[in-house]
Amino acid sequence: MTGKPKLALYWAASCGGCDIAVLAIDDKILEVANLFDIVLWPVAIDAKVRDIERLADGSIDVCLFNGGIRNSEQEYMARLLRAKAKVLVAFGSCAHEGCIPGLANANSRDEIFQYVYKDSPSVDNPQGLVPVPDFEVPEGTLHIPVFYDTLKTLDQTVPVDYYLPGCPPEAENIWTAVQAVAAGLAGAPLPPTGTVLGAQTTVCDECKRTRTEKKIKVFKRVWEILPNETECLLEQGLVCCGIATRGGCGALCPVVNSPCIGCHGPNEGVQDFGARMISALASVIDSDNPAEIDHIIEQGIPDPLGTFYRFSLAHSLLRRTKLGNGNGAAQHAAVPAGRTA
Ligand code: SF4
Ligand code: SF4
Ligand code: SF4
Repeated sequence: MTGKPKLALYWAASCGGCDIAVLAIDDKILEVANLFDIVLWPVAIDAKVRDIERLADGSIDVCLFNGGIRNSEQEYMARLLRAKAKVLVAFGSCAHEGCIPGLANANSRDEIFQYVYKDSPSVDNPQGLVPVPDFEVPEGTLHIPVFYDTLKTLDQTVPVDYYLPGCPPEAENIWTAVQAVAAGLAGAPLPPTGTVLGAQTTVCDECKRTRTEKKIKVFKRVWEILPNETECLLEQGLVCCGIATRGGCGALCPVVNSPCIGCHGPNEGVQDFGARMISALASVIDSDNPAEIDHIIEQGIPDPLGTFYRFSLAHSLLRRTKLGNGNGAAQHAAVPAGRTA
């Protein structure tokens, strides 16, 4: 051990993009290695869980945790790292709001298993097998993590100190956050617990496109038009979520002619991203006729859940209030069976 502050990075139910985003800080990754002793980072170093279990509580200075909590092993790691880390950061949209994995909360575990292991056209499973947490073999019992009924965000599992938004967070914001935490560990004031380490303003506030309060009669899909590069995309009929989305990315998507899909989550003061977007869209539809409004929405927004809650369903007002593990799996919630130091 080096005497430097200790840093852990972990991935739970994630796509791996957040770990790639850390590498996108380029050569500054060497500065991170200079600033911190990296004790856990499954994608990059061969540290073992038992090494973390042996550390004293509070001995990791900061943990960047990406991904949601989909199974018992991930919950175990979230609880373990919460106990060991002074500062726990929900890193990226999956840990922050559930993101794409959280959209599965529109279905039960049984429905997910039914489709994934039986009904999906690409599946060949004549015996209809599905995973079970405990499986007997001649050598003993094999254990795999219990797949939960509900995907939970990190703060629905353990207390979280800070949130770094984005799918994934942008490299500059990662570097700024790492520097801020490093300075805080050296005595500088840290932001209040619960702070989202992003802009207080919206993506619209950062967007250079011209807005004229033009109303629209039809929403268009991105593949249906080639938008011009100066006018507001929403006013050109594309569902751009910049008005409801926390800034800090420099309006990255509108800059390249693509609508903001809301990956930074709701902006400061907005409790529910989808509700804010729905009210924003209501104000741009050029009709007072309820039937016509219904038609415009049905034609232009065929997937309202995916459009308005793509990143935030697990954390939204529509979230499940019952966060049980489903089907008698509670006994596996805290420590995966078979896990020993
Ligand atoms: S926030 Fe986005 S990039 Fe990060 S793990 Fe989730 S899906 Fe992947
Ligand atoms: S709605 Fe989109 S395109 Fe229009 S100003 Fe806001 S971010 Fe820019
Ligand atoms: S413009 Fe929207 S979707 Fe694109 S990076 Fe920024 S917050 Fe995310």
